[in-house]
Amino acid sequence: MQHEQCLIIGSGPAGYTAAIYAARANLNPLLIEGPQVGGQLMTTTEVENFPGYPDGIQPFEMMDDLRRQAERFGTRFVSGEVTRVELDTTDTAKHHIWVEENDEYEAATVIIATGAKAKYLGIESEQTYKGRGVSACATCDGFFYRKKTVAVVGGGDTACEEASYLANLCQKVYMIVRKPFLRASEIMQERVLSNPKIEVLFEHNTLQLTGEGKVQGADLIYKKGTAEEKIVHIDIDGFFLAIGHTPQTTLFRGQLQTNEEGYIQTVGVSTATNIPGVFAAGDCADPHYRQAIVAAAAGCKAALDAERYLKQKG
Ligand code: NDP
Repeated sequence: MQHEQCLIIGSGPAGYTAAIYAARANLNPLLIEGPQVGGQLMTTTEVENFPGYPDGIQPFEMMDDLRRQAERFGTRFVSGEVTRVELDTTDTAKHHIWVEENDEYEAATVIIATGAKAKYLGIESEQTYKGRGVSACATCDGFFYRKKTVAVVGGGDTACEEASYLANLCQKVYMIVRKPFLRASEIMQERVLSNPKIEVLFEHNTLQLTGEGKVQGADLIYKKGTAEEKIVHIDIDGFFLAIGHTPQTTLFRGQLQTNEEGYIQTVGVSTATNIPGVFAAGDCADPHYRQAIVAAAAGCKAALDAERYLKQKG
C-alpha cells in the first residue's frame, strides 16, 4: 500500500489547481483522475470567461494546460475510479482510498474535487432513448444533429449556452422552460431571445418523448393545472437536458457532512470538512457559483489548507 502526503480526487479545474499548489508546496501530490478526465468543463462548448484567455479557449485545451502545469511541478496521476474511501475521523492522518477496488492508498490529507454531474428529468422515455436522441451534453453530441431540430430543457445559463451552441449547428432549437421566465444571466438571455433559430417555450413541461427506435418528437404540457392547460407536440430529432447538476459525493455519504442535496459542507471560508485532513473544493462543495474560476480558486485554497494542516501536525 502506498502512503501519500496529499491525495487529490478529481481532474477538473479544482483538482488540477489543488495539484499545482500542492506540488509547489512539496506535498508530492497524487491525483486520481476519474472516468471523465478534465471534469464537467469538458462538456461545455468554449470557455469565454476564464481570465487569461481573451479570445476564449476550447475546454480540452484549457484542461490540458492545467494538467501540464500540475505535472510540471511533479504531480503524479493515476487514472481510474475511486470505488471506496475510509476517512479517518481520529486525526491520525490515515485516510484510505481504493481505486478500482484493488489499489489501496493511504493518505495524510485528501482533497475532494469530484464535481457534479448532469440531472435528468426522471421520465421513463428519457432512459428508453438515451444515446438515441437524448443527451446531456450539446458539445459532445450536437454534431450529430446538424441541420436538424432539437430541444433543450432548462432556463439557466447551461440551457442558454447549449441552445446557442446548437443553434449554430441545427435548423431549429426549442427551449423548454417550466417557468414564465429564464433564470439565466442577462447576457445569456439576450443571446437566446435574439437568436431567430431559437424558440423559447415558456411554461412547458415535458411529458414524454416519442419516436420509433429514436427520438422523433416530444409531448409537452402547457400551463399545467390552469384553465389554459393543453398538450403540445413538437417534432424533434434530439432532446438535450440542461436542468442542473447533482454533486458526485455518494462515495463519502455517511462520512462527510453534506447539505440535503449532497454538496459537501465546508467550515467557514476554508475548504475543511468535518473530518480533519479532508478538504473539499469545486462543484462537489459549491451549489452556488459553479464556475471554473471559482472551482480553481477553491482548489488553491484546499492545497493551502492541506499544507497548513500538515505543518500543524508536524
Ligand atoms: P440552474 O440551476 O441555474 O438552472 C437549471 C434550470 O433547469 C432552471 O431553469 C430550472 O428551472 C430548470 N429545471 C430544473 N429542474 C427541472 C425540471 N425537473 N424540469 C424542467 N426544468 C427544470 O443550472 P445551470 O446548470 O444552468 O447553472 C448552474 C450554475 O452554473 C449557475 O450558477 C449558472 O450561472 C452557472 N453557469 C454559468 C455559465 C457561464 O457563465 N458561462 C455556463 C453554465 C452555467 P427553474 O428556473 O424553474 O428552477
